[in-house]
Amino acid sequence: MAKALLCRVGWHKWQWRSTDDGSRYLVCRRCGKQGEVGPLLGGEP
Ligand SMILES: [Zn+2]
Repeated sequence: MAKALLCRVGWHKWQWRSTDDGSRYLVCRRCGKQGEVGPLLGGEP
């Protein structure tokens, strides 16, 4: 399956995930790309 069009243009569906050790990170629900905490939260401009 190809990446979603929105992901290809950089508009990912960010969602918070937690690791076993309790740290949090962002991951795209559509393509699985992992983001970083900070400006990515809430989507990209
Ligand atoms: Zn994505």
